Amino acid sequence: MEVQKDTGIRAECDNTVHYFCSEGCRDKFLQEKTCKRPRTLYDLIIVGGGPAGLTAAVYAATMKMDAFLIAKDLGGQAVDSTKIENYMGYDFITGPQLIEKFQEQLVRSHYIDHVISEVEKIEPADDGFRVIASELKTYSAKAVIITTGMARRTLGVEGEERFQRKGVFYGNIQDLSFIQDKDVVVAGGGNSALQMVENLHGVTARINLVSATELTGDAMIIERVRGLGDVGIYEEYKVVEFLGDVALAGVSIRKMAGEETASLPAEGVFISIGFKPNSGLVTRLVDVNDRGEIIIQPDCSTTYPGIFAAGDITNAFGKRIIIASGEGAKAALAAKQYLLDLRKRHVAAVCVLPAGTARAERL
Ligand SMILES: Cc1cc2nc3c(=O)[nH]c(=O)nc-3n(C[C@H](O)[C@H](O)[C@H](O)COP(=O)(O)OP(=O)(O)OC[C@H]3O[C@@H](n4cnc5c(N)ncnc54)[C@H](O)[C@@H]3O)c2cc1C
Repeated sequence: MEVQKDTGIRAECDNTVHYFCSEGCRDKFLQEKTCKRPRTLYDLIIVGGGPAGLTAAVYAATMKMDAFLIAKDLGGQAVDSTKIENYMGYDFITGPQLIEKFQEQLVRSHYIDHVISEVEKIEPADDGFRVIASELKTYSAKAVIITTGMARRTLGVEGEERFQRKGVFYGNIQDLSFIQDKDVVVAGGGNSALQMVENLHGVTARINLVSATELTGDAMIIERVRGLGDVGIYEEYKVVEFLGDVALAGVSIRKMAGEETASLPAEGVFISIGFKPNSGLVTRLVDVNDRGEIIIQPDCSTTYPGIFAAGDITNAFGKRIIIASGEGAKAALAAKQYLLDLRKRHVAAVCVLPAGTARAERL
């Protein structure tokens, strides 16, 4: 979360001024500076800061759990949504506005320790799990909740990496001025690619839509896009190369199962070809389905005791903010119950009782 100097909470330490997003963050920082021993051991670690992770964190805080959140960002995919019309309590809200409210709830009303970092590995340990984040920072917990959501699919072709954010974009972008009156290509054939064409129409010069299959979006939007008349539609074609020396100049496309190729001019290419679950951290430990989604039970538990999962990363039906948030809440409740059961088992194991006492009576 970016902290602005004019709105952040200020604290001076070692002759340096630091700015924090909340009093909780400041206090944690000052405490760690004073005792020089950052905390690394928690009951619960939540990985991911989208709607599922943020809701799990707020629930964990309200239940006074000893929890820690590690996320690459606070917001997740929802930040990219320009128009949310299906979240309870709001007729209409933008993704950034809704996420700002989630963040406020987390850092101001229901604080839990958190760090903006990427988790690189999760491995079983004697007393639960070791969670290894960037720069080999290692944290431990008895249980983890995975809410790492989904990432946009890339085309994986020559030049894509080189022109990323220099003409090649995934999904919506806020500022369209740089492609005003320029030729663009949209790659994809589903609803999000078709919506992208509608958003760009009238702003850019020529739009070419390149889809590896026939268009697969809803019938209404397909009809609208076809009806635009001036959009080039290449069905069953794939982008095989991004062209250009310093700046992006176009793409090369090839007919599927054919040899016919063509070059399309483009100073902007918008790729909307779907998402893939970020489940790589735990695929060695838990069962996943053929799409790579973590298989969960109704209480968000997985096949590995102590690992819970919530949101788009799971096989739960429906990829929506409200569903991810609900599942995040459920995962926190289930993790709390798991930790209580673990504690009960631990107490039972260490209890010294008179000989002949039945094990069931020990609890
Ligand atoms: C353009 C767009 C528009 C949308 N519009 C709507 C809409 O109008 N209504 C609606 O209900 N839904 C909408 N959605 C879907 C909605 O955004 C998702 O269903 C929701 O964000 C899923 O939440 P999540 O928390 O499960 O995952 P995500 O939002 O994907 O969050 C995952 C989080 O995990 C973090 N992460 C990933 N890997 C790691 C790692 N290794 N270490 C640490 N952190 C990690 C990410 O940085 C992120 O913080 C839209 C999605 C997009 C892309």
